[in-house]
Amino acid sequence: MIKNDIVVVGSGHNGLVAGAYLAAAGKRVLVLERNAWFGGGVVTRELTLPGFRHDQHSMAHIFIQANPLLAADELKLKEKYGLRYVFPDPPMMSVFEDGSTLAIHRDRERTCAEIAKFSRKDADAYRRLSEQAAGWLPMVAGTLFSAPAPLGASFAMLDQAREGREFWRVVQMSTHDVLCEYFEHDKVRMHFARIAGENLCSPDEKATGLGVFVFVGFMEAYGIGVPIGGSGQLTASLIACIKDHGGEVLSNVDVARVLARNGRATGVATTTGQEYEASEAVIAAIHPHQLGQMVEGIEPQVARAAEATQISPIACITVHAALQAPLRFRGGAAVSAVMNELLPTRYEQLRRSFDDLRYGGFSRYPLVGFGSLTAFDASRVPEGRATLHAWDYVPYERPDGKSWDETKHEYAQRMLEHMSGFIENVGAEDILQYHCDSPVDMERTSSSFKRGDLHGIATTSYQSGAHRPTPELGQFTVPGVERLYLVGPFQHPGGGVFGAGRGAAMKYMEDTKANVSGVTRRGLRRVLEFAVSRAFRKAARQ
Ligand SMILES: Cc1cc2nc3c(=O)[nH]c(=O)nc-3n(C[C@H](O)[C@H](O)[C@H](O)COP(=O)(O)OP(=O)(O)OC[C@H]3O[C@@H](n4cnc5c(N)ncnc54)[C@H](O)[C@@H]3O)c2cc1C
Repeated sequence: MIKNDIVVVGSGHNGLVAGAYLAAAGKRVLVLERNAWFGGGVVTRELTLPGFRHDQHSMAHIFIQANPLLAADELKLKEKYGLRYVFPDPPMMSVFEDGSTLAIHRDRERTCAEIAKFSRKDADAYRRLSEQAAGWLPMVAGTLFSAPAPLGASFAMLDQAREGREFWRVVQMSTHDVLCEYFEHDKVRMHFARIAGENLCSPDEKATGLGVFVFVGFMEAYGIGVPIGGSGQLTASLIACIKDHGGEVLSNVDVARVLARNGRATGVATTTGQEYEASEAVIAAIHPHQLGQMVEGIEPQVARAAEATQISPIACITVHAALQAPLRFRGGAAVSAVMNELLPTRYEQLRRSFDDLRYGGFSRYPLVGFGSLTAFDASRVPEGRATLHAWDYVPYERPDGKSWDETKHEYAQRMLEHMSGFIENVGAEDILQYHCDSPVDMERTSSSFKRGDLHGIATTSYQSGAHRPTPELGQFTVPGVERLYLVGPFQHPGGGVFGAGRGAAMKYMEDTKANVSGVTRRGLRRVLEFAVSRAFRKAARQ
């Protein structure tokens, strides 16, 4: 058996973040990855032609910007390990079928001017919404990068002040309810409604209303981080950090089981029978549906509840293309936003398209969004060329019963044809080569993305916060198996590039009273608690 202090199962960014904190704390860390490459959903690969580097999954690093990992550069990923970001403006833009556009800028007044093109009243409403979003942001951000507070206590606290009650009301509303309260214009409502879609939710889904405030708050405070060299540069910097602290990161190692003795995780066994000892802890990216099979000694009712967690009916399909030249919208404008959403002219079409997915069908209107990040980082392609990263939402099981492996290229053509209504140069003659990942490919690249759900499990209120993925597993720990810590998009705070492995590392530090880079676990905890309690105190005064 090969000995280590900490074994991390999976080289997704969350496992790497947890591993890097613990390596920095002096632990001997070993990361084991099943794929031939590292990074899970945070990876940049030559998927099409040599010299064209595509972000296969995540491309927009939003929430991690507020994580002290980057905000305070706690592990020196920027100072020492080469991680660099640019923050293009505007971060996001809706492009409607009739050629009109609506951008969110980092500057509030510029966004108001955009909205005023459609409705002056809505521009004033946006000012109110974004002020509220900025007010709530410290409280929201303060809860994202550590273990979540118990839900009962959190709601009891919110219930004590007017602002807390308002926050709670919004949490329970649908995105659509919130948008109707603020805005009158169809396109303004649709622009913000599409944001809920990025969470694989219909805007009509109840308990998604806070998402608009979180998105607007983050856009204004941080924008969207585009890593120079590609999304995978975050992965590369974390691996460099782990190795620099004496750790190891291995590919092509498929972990079959987490071993446990006397109610405590002791290591892992691979599918080829190799065992790796973890004298202090195992940190693992295990989807809740697989916990029961993979973890020795887990309490049966905990495994059953995990297996019953629900996956979104909305799966993701992507097209990555190597392009002759940078994209131009019809009319000649260059791509200026990081995320671009291609939208119909009537909001109802968007809502009904999400309903189609709810019933297991294809959406009547393609829900295509795209990025072309070579517009901001030319280092990813040969000179003068560009890349396209387009996504759409589909059912995991096709309603016609056909397999995705046989039909994905047909669907990719549907997406590209739809895009050509908005973009001048996305025809066959403009595309040098393309790569399509169907929902089935998505789950092949990482077991986190089961059934093409890029957030692992659905982001519903009953699978959020301290109840994500289940109430028993919400603290990153596993009842019945001490020293096993869970990371993944199915854990708090959910899918996305959050660097949430920091919370799992903190949990380990609390359990073992370890220090990180000279910062005590209490110190880290205090910073986070201060941010949360300051926001709650402010709410209580009102
Ligand atoms: C198409 C797509 C686009 C996205 N776009 C964005 C975006 O723009 N912005 C954003 O914030 N988020 C985005 N996301 C979501 C984001 O990529 C994920 O939420 C995030 O990468 C999850 O990170 P993770 O470390 O928790 O898990 P993962 O990235 O899934 O990593 C888990 C790793 O563990 C490995 N593993 C699992 N089990 C084992 C085992 N038994 N043995 C060995 N290795 C194992 C897997 O192979 C994988 O490498 C996107 C996701 C997808 C699929």
